[in-house]
Amino acid sequence: MATIREAREALKLYFGYEQFRPMQEQIIEGVLQGKDVVVLMPTGGGKSVCYQVPAVVMPGICVVISPLIALMKDQVEALLVNGIPAAYLNSSQNSDEQYQIEKQCLEGKLKLLYVSPEKLLSSGFMSFISRINISLFAVDEAHCISSWGHDFRPEYTQLKALKQQFPSIPVIALTATADRLTQKDIQEQLHMRDPQVYVASFDRPNINLTVKPGKDRFNKITDFLARRQRQPGIIYCLSRKATESLADKLKRSGYSATYYHAGMPANQRAKAQEDFLNDDVLIVCATVAFGMGIDKSNVRWVIHYNMPKNIEGYYQEIGRAGRDGATSDALLFYSYADVMSMRSMLQENHNEAQSELQLVKLERMQQFAEAAACRRRILLQYFGETMQKDCGNCDICRNPPTRFDGTLIAQKALSAIARTQERVNMGLLVDVLRGARNAQVLQSGYDKVKTYGAGRDVSTLDWNRYLHQMLNEGLIEMAYDQGYTLKLTEQSKQVLFESRKVQLVKFEEVRQEEPTVRAR
Ligand code: ADP
Ligand code: ZN
Repeated sequence: MATIREAREALKLYFGYEQFRPMQEQIIEGVLQGKDVVVLMPTGGGKSVCYQVPAVVMPGICVVISPLIALMKDQVEALLVNGIPAAYLNSSQNSDEQYQIEKQCLEGKLKLLYVSPEKLLSSGFMSFISRINISLFAVDEAHCISSWGHDFRPEYTQLKALKQQFPSIPVIALTATADRLTQKDIQEQLHMRDPQVYVASFDRPNINLTVKPGKDRFNKITDFLARRQRQPGIIYCLSRKATESLADKLKRSGYSATYYHAGMPANQRAKAQEDFLNDDVLIVCATVAFGMGIDKSNVRWVIHYNMPKNIEGYYQEIGRAGRDGATSDALLFYSYADVMSMRSMLQENHNEAQSELQLVKLERMQQFAEAAACRRRILLQYFGETMQKDCGNCDICRNPPTRFDGTLIAQKALSAIARTQERVNMGLLVDVLRGARNAQVLQSGYDKVKTYGAGRDVSTLDWNRYLHQMLNEGLIEMAYDQGYTLKLTEQSKQVLFESRKVQLVKFEEVRQEEPTVRAR
């Protein structure tokens, strides 16, 4: 069995790094011991090393499942440059090319083989890989396997078969974006055996977070840019057309700007990307198609011209700023009209369950934008990480709203959740709290529980706001996989039984206009 010492030597020899980052070492030790491992690490955290180094020191081939053909090629080229024999198999290759690579695999000449999920599905592939000596399966972008994630890819469900066909080969699943439920689902879908789970901190403290009302966006953008001259950044827009018209408007105002979206010819896209990478153009107005696999460390700011569809997407997109660790800014424009248009787009989805999930995720995003609590706390809580104190560098921390003691309100809500056995979703909970006499309440007998009607004095809208504040702070959780029912957490127990206080913000207090601009 390969040892961690050999792994350290390989890291130095092939990758030129002196030491592992703290979590990499533990992860690699687990892999070398044949354990199944789940890795949650933000982009740039160093996930690739976690399977590439084991691949080098273990006997056999590491099969990497990766959804993006363009990235696959880059990864393989980078490995080859480092002297590690690697190749990829995907639908872009002709059968002769594929044959050559299969031959190398059978002869044991490769250390890593990248395959696309479609390739896994293709006939004969499973029997082909059963003839090669496999050391490890690495599932990259593992959140794609979960229908609770924000980027479900049906081809990925095929990966369920890996453990069935190769029960003794360890699996490492890696992702930079998975909320708590998705994390759990990844393990189940892959049939992992007692996996070791590593969650790196998702905090990017050098990125300042700000949300502003969407009114008068263009002027707000030029104000923002005036304080960031010659600093590269990205403006994410919802539509392809918007990227073009915004870039045009910026250019006419004298800015160095271009646009990028998936509808452009490949050469134009490559040019936009290259110009941005080389600092030949400073601003890219782009759809979410831009940024994946782009390694530009000095992106100083990211603006969301429109609100993203979910927190996972938002987090990934702002994460493109400040990779070098220097202070950077994320500015999100929020308008209710945007939410409405996105909502109707999502409702067109023909898969009803997916559409409902996406709507709930949109609602969480909206609540983040409207939130009155430290934005970083909300973001990290979403990924299952609790912050000890507020961040100090988001707009809310810089300009905090007044709070009131909402302990009693929180206790009423939590107690109603407990007394309805954690079986109600938000709408029904509010009905119970407000003492509504509708069929669902009466049929379930919820009019008999002790907290029925205990929250009559609070309007339905306010209850929704308060419950979302509680969700944002981790005082309750929403189970997407159980009819969106609300669940108690460790923190809710502190409120119910350990006299923990809860501070809430009245909606009137939730700032609708922007905070004062701070000198930088
Ligand atoms: P991820 O896949 O998590 O986005 P990568 O694997 O691409 O991250 O790594 C991000 C960057 O960090 C890369 O430039 C990589 O070479 C570098 N890196 C990874 N591990 C180490 C290490 N132990 N020491 C120094 N740099 C590292
Ligand atoms: Zn904050």
